Amino acid sequence: MREERHDVVVVGAGPAGSVTAKHLALRGLDVLLIERNQEIGVPVRCAEGVSKGLEKFVRIDKRWICATVKGAHIYSPDGTKVTVEAEGSHAGYVLERRIFDRFLAEEAARAGATVRVKTAATGVIKENGAVKGISANCMGEQMRIYADVVVAADGVESKVGEWAGLNTAVKMRDIAVCAEFLMSGVEVDDAYCEFFIGDMAPRGYAWVFPKGDDCANVGLGIGADISTEGRRALDFLRSFVAKKFPAGKVLAEIYGAVPLSGPIYETVADGIVLVGDAARQVDPLSGGGILYAMRAGEIAAEVISEACEEKDFSRRKLYEYEKRWRQDFGRRLEIGLKAKEYFLKMPASRMNKLAHALAAKGTIKLREQTAVAMLKEFVRRSPSLLFDLAKLIF
Ligand SMILES: Cc1cc2nc3c(=O)[nH]c(=O)nc-3n(C[C@H](O)[C@H](O)[C@H](O)COP(=O)(O)OP(=O)(O)OC[C@H]3O[C@@H](n4cnc5c(N)ncnc54)[C@H](O)[C@@H]3O)c2cc1C
Repeated sequence: MREERHDVVVVGAGPAGSVTAKHLALRGLDVLLIERNQEIGVPVRCAEGVSKGLEKFVRIDKRWICATVKGAHIYSPDGTKVTVEAEGSHAGYVLERRIFDRFLAEEAARAGATVRVKTAATGVIKENGAVKGISANCMGEQMRIYADVVVAADGVESKVGEWAGLNTAVKMRDIAVCAEFLMSGVEVDDAYCEFFIGDMAPRGYAWVFPKGDDCANVGLGIGADISTEGRRALDFLRSFVAKKFPAGKVLAEIYGAVPLSGPIYETVADGIVLVGDAARQVDPLSGGGILYAMRAGEIAAEVISEACEEKDFSRRKLYEYEKRWRQDFGRRLEIGLKAKEYFLKMPASRMNKLAHALAAKGTIKLREQTAVAMLKEFVRRSPSLLFDLAKLIF
């Protein structure tokens, strides 16, 4: 069997994996980034919306921007529209992830990482309880790839962490199953993303994100625990689309899952670090994970390169990653989780009342484009309705 050795092997070339690989390579480490699919960025499983926080990670490039948005319209169950906008010129972007993900992998390659597609991790190599590499299938050939550290960036279906002995399980009630159509011939306002709450997406929400011209990502997510024959995400999406865009044409169908559990209990073990969806670093309220995946990748690279300098790949050393990412964005995910539970229990009548109160005071302007900033503004505008939520946030 073919064997190889690298300082670090990164499994999965999504945003988490590519950003980790880029920053490790920039620090002079020998990094191998593997991707099971034959093309990075394909298939797309995303609504492709990000806040302008993206600008902290990469220089914006027109090649992968479909739309620049000012804000969002959020519709309550009775159709009341609440508008949220950014202070300043724009709130965020709708990406073309097929190109964006490839761009991130190109950046990793340019920094010096080796990138290999059609290469799937199939297990981890363990010695005395510590992870020492992975076994992989590389274009049909079985390989053993040794590394000082393995980075599990293998997304929502992550197996690498589990193979290493970490508990990555997510309860069905904490998973959103999603269906999305890329549609043309739809009339949308290119300056706003739209969110719809109500029976069209039980235990979730529906979205319409503009993609430029007359195109949009039209999708929805529902709780995995209530998905049954005839009431799957696709069934709900078909009826949503039939009502909202009867003349629209479906150019692509997209299915995927989002972990809404909050992060796993521990994201490191001896010789291994988990980043992005693999670590469930997703905002449980919005389901957004791209920017958290990228930030986690940056932090992971910092800590792994320190570990390489000290030649200490123990859990104790790698735990520094756990501490730093929790300090950086852990609290936001915690609040997101509590807020998700809070809104899931809120009856439609109360949600409508809240929307009426918020809409009556005009457009909500936000300095920071995060779910937490939006919730704080909701509480400020409707303190009596959201007294319980205030206790969770402040
Ligand atoms: C329908 C839907 C809509 C979404 N919309 C948004 C949104 O609008 N905004 C937002 O911020 N987030 C959104 N998300 C979440 C977002 O897509 C993820 O949080 C983000 O992609 C996480 O990046 P990642 O690198 O951790 O994982 P991924 O992007 O999933 O990348 C993981 C990679 O690992 C590869 N891989 C898996 N197993 C192996 C293996 N054994 N060997 C080698 N490679 C492997 C996969 O092929 C994949 O390329 C959405 C998700 C879904 C499903």
